[in-house]
Amino acid sequence: MSEQCGFCGAVYWKEEKNTAHKYTKCCHDGKVQLPAFPDAPELIESKLKIHLMLKIIDSEFGNTEGSCLHFLRQNQEDLRIELYRGLLDALECRAHNENIRTGKLIILPSSFQGSPRHMQQNYQDAMAMVRKFGKPDLFLTFTCNTSWSEILNSMEGVQRPEDRPDIIVRVFNQSIYLVNFLLLFQIGWLNVI
Ligand SMILES: [Zn+2]
Repeated sequence: MSEQCGFCGAVYWKEEKNTAHKYTKCCHDGKVQLPAFPDAPELIESKLKIHLMLKIIDSEFGNTEGSCLHFLRQNQEDLRIELYRGLLDALECRAHNENIRTGKLIILPSSFQGSPRHMQQNYQDAMAMVRKFGKPDLFLTFTCNTSWSEILNSMEGVQRPEDRPDIIVRVFNQSIYLVNFLLLFQIGWLNVI
């Protein structure tokens, strides 16, 4: 939308010009004048701003992950996919037996967060630590409650905890630090994996 009505400022596509080379769908050359829209109520405006921010964060994350996947798809040779030859052979053999066609196999390396190889590597690392240091004495899981006063007190105006994931993450990390600290005092030593 690169074109603009000279009277009311409405934006147009170039192709929307009529036969007289004018844009007339908005105000008919300034003949129609409407009062400007009033500002949205504060509650709606702040909610809209928050949702826009979350939408931007979400879309940026999608873009980053998408370009990362695109890179992996385009650079399979550099990632030395031929090392997985056994896997390819097994898949092709199974496809042949079941009379289906194999598609192009894309291997997600362990450096891609959340991929099966990443999970496998984390598991192997954890097992290696158990072998070295012995079995863990405690297995703690720790979750975050959005009704914590530290979170609620940090909200501005009409914000709800779900509007501010950034604050929730920071409070959660501080709480984990505190729990580790208290455990350290309680039992004297701590190895955190
Ligand atoms: Zn106009």
